[in-house]
Amino acid sequence: MNKVKYCIASVLFLMGAMVMAQEEGDVKTEREPGHYNQSRFKQLYEEFSTPNTYRSASGAPGPDYYQQQADYVINVQLDDKNAKIYGEETITYHNNSPDDLEFLWVQLDQNVRAKDSKSPLRDGNGVNIAYTAGNFAETFISEPFDGGFNIEWVKDVSGKPLSYTINQTMMRVNIPQPLKSGEKLSFSVKWWYNIPDHTVNRARSGYEYFEKDGNRAYVIAQFFPRMAVYSDVEGWQNHQFWGSGEFALPFGNYDVSITVPADHVLDGTGVLQNREEVFSKDMMKRYKEALKSYDKPVIIVTQQEAEAAEKGFATNTKTWKFKATNVRDYAFATSRKFIWDMQAVKIGGKDVMAVSLYPKEGNPLWEDLSTKAVAQTLKTYSEHTFDYPYHKAISVHAKNQGMEYPMICWNYGRPNEDGTYSDRVKYGMISVIIHEVGHNFFPMIVNSDERQWGWMDEGLDTFMQYLAEQAFGANNPSVIAPNEKYPSQRGNPAAIVPYMAGDQKYISPIMSNPENVYQLGPNAYAKPATALNILRETVMGKELFDHAFKTYAQRWMFKHPTPEDFFRTMEDASAVDLDWFWRAWFYTTDYVDIGVKGVKKYYVSSKPTKEMEKYMADRNITEADLPPLVYLAEEDSEDFMPELKGKSPTETSQNLKEFMMDNMTEAERSKVKEPKFFYEITFDKPGGVPMPLIVEYTYADGTKENVTYPPEIWRKNDAEVKRVISSQKELVGIVVDPKLETADIDTTNNSWPKKEEKSDFDKFKENIKGK
Ligand SMILES: [Zn+2]
Repeated sequence: MNKVKYCIASVLFLMGAMVMAQEEGDVKTEREPGHYNQSRFKQLYEEFSTPNTYRSASGAPGPDYYQQQADYVINVQLDDKNAKIYGEETITYHNNSPDDLEFLWVQLDQNVRAKDSKSPLRDGNGVNIAYTAGNFAETFISEPFDGGFNIEWVKDVSGKPLSYTINQTMMRVNIPQPLKSGEKLSFSVKWWYNIPDHTVNRARSGYEYFEKDGNRAYVIAQFFPRMAVYSDVEGWQNHQFWGSGEFALPFGNYDVSITVPADHVLDGTGVLQNREEVFSKDMMKRYKEALKSYDKPVIIVTQQEAEAAEKGFATNTKTWKFKATNVRDYAFATSRKFIWDMQAVKIGGKDVMAVSLYPKEGNPLWEDLSTKAVAQTLKTYSEHTFDYPYHKAISVHAKNQGMEYPMICWNYGRPNEDGTYSDRVKYGMISVIIHEVGHNFFPMIVNSDERQWGWMDEGLDTFMQYLAEQAFGANNPSVIAPNEKYPSQRGNPAAIVPYMAGDQKYISPIMSNPENVYQLGPNAYAKPATALNILRETVMGKELFDHAFKTYAQRWMFKHPTPEDFFRTMEDASAVDLDWFWRAWFYTTDYVDIGVKGVKKYYVSSKPTKEMEKYMADRNITEADLPPLVYLAEEDSEDFMPELKGKSPTETSQNLKEFMMDNMTEAERSKVKEPKFFYEITFDKPGGVPMPLIVEYTYADGTKENVTYPPEIWRKNDAEVKRVISSQKELVGIVVDPKLETADIDTTNNSWPKKEEKSDFDKFKENIKGK
């Protein structure tokens, strides 16, 4: 026993000495300057803020975590004839923060469409290569649309005017006394504005006008002055609404009355309070059926009824009354053109209604698929996060729209006039419905700050969208054939390659404000979604990832998380150090490119290699001074002795044979493997992102072996690493990332022997010739 230990210790010492000798040989005559810790595996202490009592180092809310609450009583009237909306609201603002507040900030998002909006003035680009006709008309031809809020007054509870200051899309309410910590304050605002045509003005809310029947379909949001968020992270989140950075909103309870023409059909956030008043008898009867229909939607307003209503133009009105608890926003859709269907979905033992509203222009697509897509979204997202807590989720058809609010969202996907539609339109519609309904989870319930971090809602939602789309495909054989997969646009690693490989001038790190990025789609949606997919499938594995992701969702449901809360929780709940992953994928624009650079073949040699001889000569020692050694000779070197090729190590090395005789029992010796082939493989990493090194080895007999080396293999050398493998069979092929699961941007260096890989252009040329 002692002898063995001695030998191993000596050899290790010797190996260390040899490695050092090699490194000494490499020392350049000119000394390089020192450097900071540049390891891609160092912890994110410099990027992260220090945890505190509001937010714990684990990523969970801390013991002093607080959030503000804003309750609303809102009364609005729609003027359908003139496309105007009039409103009055009372906001009760609860200051749960430890700070006294000298003023309150209210968001006036519609002012982004005011005549004097500064948003269009920020554009520093020249002439576009093309304009959409609508955009051209808006920019060059039309009178600028005046869609800003007209604030008539702001008053306190006693009806006394409160002074206020409007700075573009933000309004500071100047309260006479600071609002003390723990206290609440009510005040009222009266306003109106011109509703934009969302199909022309690219607005997130507005109406579509239907020339043929003279009707409008309204999807209305950001329609009331809304409280800004005050938090431990930002203080007041009062960054202006420029158009791209979406919303930051506190939770609260809503009591909303909406007055519209009596022949309109309407649905919105919250529980309808006066259903018997606003529903016809037929609608009531069908609604009760829908509550018990779990397998298919029940039509509440038929296409025939909607088409009849299109011709009416009622002058009397109806008021629809809703109450919503613990929501961060309010939105509604209304038109006399709407067809309405709904079905029940069981979520965690509770019934949730999946609902769709669409004009006849959406059919037959919408009647067939919208509510199905809503139901699948609620199921898949609930499985991966928490049981959907609201009582309904509504998908409203609105041309070109894809926009989300609590319990309700607007979605595109319109068939041709003859009712036909392409696969692109069909899958586009299913995908956008899943995406927008999915936003109920991120950011409507896991309420991140969209104004600052677009990826926290879009990226997480797009990641979940991928899972829900695949589940939709698997559960709907009439839409996706059983042997096919749903054609998801985002989430698949290969699909992000063109973006990651693109011009670095136009790529921003994910950790950027949405206003400052060049390509918002890939930046805030596709790249984070793909990163999370890779994290789940390839880096962490589904079990560890799913538990950690669910932990994040449950820790932060009905709260305001930051990116760090997400990053920290994913590690806290999994024991996987992911700082390197967050750094590479979220804080930099680095890409993945890993390849196999070269392979050297070795055989066991009976005598010292030339390098070893030099080592001994330099130190004036002989083999007798050292513990028994075994040597590997490279095939392409002067050490190579052809007669030893393919022999087993114990046949060749007397030292090894003696060692085994002295230190191993006969039983142990009978079990040893005798590899005949030794390889030193060099893997290189031209890309900045460290990733697991996934390798498929192929042997002469056709067998394959798959090995995944952890990403930490790159921790000491970020550019190149070597692996030594031994085998009884000859190695004939190596492929890095054989299943294309890492978003490697250049696969021409992924194979040994190097494959003749044709460029896309060459393939294209061949194709042309072939035809
Ligand atoms: Zn989205």
